[in-house]
This record gives sequence, structure tokens and C-alpha cells, in this order.
Amino acid sequence: MEPDQDYSLFFETETHHATYGATRMLTINIHRFNTNEDNISIPLEFATTNVGSLTDSTFTVLQYTLICQNISTYSSLRIAEKTSTYVSEMVSSLNNYEQTNVHIILHLTHFNPPSLYMMEIQTAASVVESDVTIQTTKDEYEECTICMDIISEGQNMNSLQCGQIYHHECITNWVKINDSCPLCRETIF
Ligand SMILES: [Zn+2]
Ligand SMILES: [Zn+2]
Repeated sequence: MEPDQDYSLFFETETHHATYGATRMLTINIHRFNTNEDNISIPLEFATTNVGSLTDSTFTVLQYTLICQNISTYSSLRIAEKTSTYVSEMVSSLNNYEQTNVHIILHLTHFNPPSLYMMEIQTAASVVESDVTIQTTKDEYEECTICMDIISEGQNMNSLQCGQIYHHECITNWVKINDSCPLCRETIF
């Protein structure tokens, strides 16, 4: 049992006889439940050493691809190691590796809560950022409780689901680092 394991995985392999130049493909499928990122698919070409494990450059590309998907450095390393072990076992089981197209699919389910949370914040922030409302004519202008200035006519303003209004720039910067409305504390996602 590994400490703090935040993923589960299994591998699948498809092989076909290669008539001309055998190909090596590794597809990483990442599932994150209850997020907008529940079906990520990343194809990579891979290369193997003469003992069948991943070459250093393939290993590094795989590891950094996983890190870029918000998977922890520790888990990314472990997943790349497990993939390399799987590939070497698969290669040794094939009769004619040089004439076989190999497609390995790494099915990865990622459970890391901080990462899920980070993805939600990024998604919510980009929604707020792309949603600009221009202030219409009003007799009384509202105060932006982030900068404490009045939102005056013609300035870009934006609101959250709770309806509280802020300067567009103020709330866009706020939601990049906070998960709730500054005034009523309602969560933004
Ligand atoms: Zn403001
Ligand atoms: Zn609010």
C-alpha cells in the first residue's frame, strides 16, 4: 500500500501486425469525476530501450505530461514507473515486437481533492473573466466591496451567481485566488 495514493490505473494494449514501419503509441486517458475534466485523452509516441522499458526521453515526457495535468510530482513519477514496467513486460511477451504496431492505453482515475479544487477554481475564474457586463444608467451607483470604490457609469462590471456586483477587473482577480463571493461567501462553483 502506497502512502497518499491519489489515483488508480489500469493498462490496455492493442497490437496489429505492421506491414511497414511499426508504430508505438501511448494514450493517456485521465478521468476526474464531478469536474469538467472527466475525460482527458492525450496521445504520445513512445520509444523503448533494448530491455523493453521506456527510454529516458519518453519517460520524462510522460512524467511532465502528468504533472501538467495537475497530478502531483510524486504520483506522476510513480505512474511513469508503472507504465515503464508494464511496457517492458508487454514487449517481452510479444513474439515479433519489431513487426508489431503497439498502442498502449493508460486509464487513469485521479482522485486528488486539491487538484480537483484547483481545476474548479480555474474553470470558474475563466467563466467570470469571459463574462463582462457594462453598467447601464442608474441614479445610484453601487460600491464595489473589493476595492471600496463606486462602480460608476460606463465601467465594466460583473456579478456572481448570488447577484452581488463588482468591477469586472476586481472580481476577475478575486476569483483566481478565492472560491467564494467576498460579501456573502457563497461559493463560486
Ligand atoms: Zn472594484
Ligand atoms: Zn455574494
